[in-house]
Amino acid sequence: MEDKLDARFQELEDKLKNMSEEDLTRVRDAYQYAKTYHEGQLRKDGSPYITHPLEVAHLVAELGLDADSIMAALLHDTIEDTDATYEEVAKRFTPSVADLVEGVTKLDKVKYTSIEEKQMENLRKMLMAMAKDVRVMLIKICDRVHNIRTMEFQSERKRREKSLETLEVYAPIAHRLGMQRMKWEMEDLSLKYLDPIAYKEIDDELDHQAQAHAAFMEKIQTEITARLEKEGIKATVYGRVKHIYSIYRKMYAQNKTFSEIFDLYAFRVIVDDIPTCYSVLGCIHDMYKAVLGRFKDYIGTPKPNMYQSLHTTVIGTEGIPFEVQIRTWDMHHMAEYGIAAHWKYKQGMSNKQLGTEETFAWVRRLLENQQDTDAEEYIRTLKVDLFADEVFVFTPNADVINLPAGATPIDFAYAIHSGVGNSMTGAKVNGRIVGFDYQLKSGEIVEVITSKNAKGPSRDWMKLAKSNQARTKIRQWFKREKREENVATGRAMFEGELKRLGITIGMLTAEEMLPHILEKVRFNSLEEMYAAIGYGGASAQKCANRAREELVHQDRQQAERLAAEKAAQEQAAQAARATVDSGVAKSGNSKKSVSGVIVSGMTECMVKFAKCCTPVPGDEIVGFITRGFGVSVHRCDCPNAMNGMSRENEKDRWIKVSWDPGSLNTYKSTIELIGKDRNGLALDVATVLATGKINTLSFNAQALPDGYAKFSLVVEVRTQSEVTTIMNKLQQIHGIYQVARVSG
Ligand code: MN
Repeated sequence: MEDKLDARFQELEDKLKNMSEEDLTRVRDAYQYAKTYHEGQLRKDGSPYITHPLEVAHLVAELGLDADSIMAALLHDTIEDTDATYEEVAKRFTPSVADLVEGVTKLDKVKYTSIEEKQMENLRKMLMAMAKDVRVMLIKICDRVHNIRTMEFQSERKRREKSLETLEVYAPIAHRLGMQRMKWEMEDLSLKYLDPIAYKEIDDELDHQAQAHAAFMEKIQTEITARLEKEGIKATVYGRVKHIYSIYRKMYAQNKTFSEIFDLYAFRVIVDDIPTCYSVLGCIHDMYKAVLGRFKDYIGTPKPNMYQSLHTTVIGTEGIPFEVQIRTWDMHHMAEYGIAAHWKYKQGMSNKQLGTEETFAWVRRLLENQQDTDAEEYIRTLKVDLFADEVFVFTPNADVINLPAGATPIDFAYAIHSGVGNSMTGAKVNGRIVGFDYQLKSGEIVEVITSKNAKGPSRDWMKLAKSNQARTKIRQWFKREKREENVATGRAMFEGELKRLGITIGMLTAEEMLPHILEKVRFNSLEEMYAAIGYGGASAQKCANRAREELVHQDRQQAERLAAEKAAQEQAAQAARATVDSGVAKSGNSKKSVSGVIVSGMTECMVKFAKCCTPVPGDEIVGFITRGFGVSVHRCDCPNAMNGMSRENEKDRWIKVSWDPGSLNTYKSTIELIGKDRNGLALDVATVLATGKINTLSFNAQALPDGYAKFSLVVEVRTQSEVTTIMNKLQQIHGIYQVARVSG
């Protein structure tokens, strides 16, 4: 027995030819250590326990992992099942070996059996997150492969449990890491235990087909090989039958019979470089009829797990369909070993076979994003950081709860239910009481202690909670339960901010100011704002800043109004002096206006022209008394004016105004043209304006659908008749069919 074991260890050493003598000594030491500690323990089949870690080490070596991983594989059950401790392993070997062993041990402790189907993806993520170092997961997968290979002696129940776990947890993880070979083996062996009858049926049928089609397989292989040789392409070609589980899935999930499974046979063509892959594809499609819709280019678009190949399904002369997968050697290694191929690459490097670097284009691609990092260092510390920002924990009922990294028991409680969070008085992690600030780690079992007499969340919880969900729920509780307290807290916080800005509350609550302030902060009353600040729904700082902005804005407007009024008074005084000087003051119209508009019953007031209808002298006009901006002048036919005058509550504010005949002011008028678009149309419009000596303030041309064009002009005129003249001239331009003044 001893001889047999040592011979098997010798075979492991043979697989480690590339390893340094120093590392090899450490591996030998790990083997001796594990053998000593497992002494006397037997496996279910009666063999010494050490055979299991030794076989796992073989699988790890076949993946090409480093010396630390191989030692950890040999030691992977020592901390859990023997007297060995983490400290001892760390001291005798290295802390990193001890970490790997501990990582594998932790994964073993996650209980899978009571997990519901819909929780499975979370469980897989949890395991990945727990593994942290991807080597832990790779060793765990090798451990599982060996366990499932040697399950005959386990009880029926244990076999089913392990098989189901392998199929639903570890095979998908292997797939995610790109490790097809181990994935297939795990799937097929699990199926063998879970559905032995179907397994045998498919296995027998495949055997039968293989015999029946041996000639077909060989013929296709020869044909392809011969053709590629003729084309001068160096390639390795081989045929295989697909693995049992994938056929099983198609038969049962898609409800097909064996004969309906489309591509039972697959051929692989492995070549040296990517361009050759596409040349081979061309040859294959030339030789056989391609099945439509079955070509997939995973070289151009790799799968998320970095799988690359060309896939196509064709039909041979016998009418039998088969799939052809075309790939390069490094794609092939990636497909077989997945993420573990990184270590194969590293071995190549340490062997000074730098020439082979070219065949690892994908690693280079990966490293391109890591230029600051030394390649060796990067590969050594490669971590599964896919889930670095998430943490996965169990409820006591074995549901998996997914929380952001750094989450505390508060996040957990509110993730269960807001009622649980609001009545929480304490929390336990793995059976031990922890503080509310405890940071949860993946794989932990969390239990919330609640009480009917709980006082509800405290305001500190908001800072301890990591998830938005928890914070929102806590905020809601405060909003609902503590209105008065919120108002008091919010008021104190808001006034504190005001003080910092040098503003007193009195400045905001002044009668003419408060409505502006409330509009700006978007609350109906100050109390509402205080309440919102109090429960955390609004920020005191933001509200105070908004209030200050509005205060400044209103002050500035006030100043501008005063300045404008003053200027108007001065101009009016000047105009009056001028009239007196010239001695031609007109009777009944002694009040000159700056704007060119006389407002009945008012001597000096601010006048502005409405933008909607841009009135000019000659137009019939009407005035509207605005609040704080003087009188706004509209054309009588402006829709805004007509609507306004008919409104009961505005009626009094519409007043009579008239043009001042003595004014030499100019006015803006907006004119719109529509015409059939043609070359030079815009130029013709511009020419009319220029020859008419029209001062054009803005000129906008816009193409409309169906070949029409629209021009929008703002011109400066003195009277309405001037506008009419221009409009008549514009109307005569060839192609223009509509000219209108804009209003409303
Ligand atoms: Mn094990």
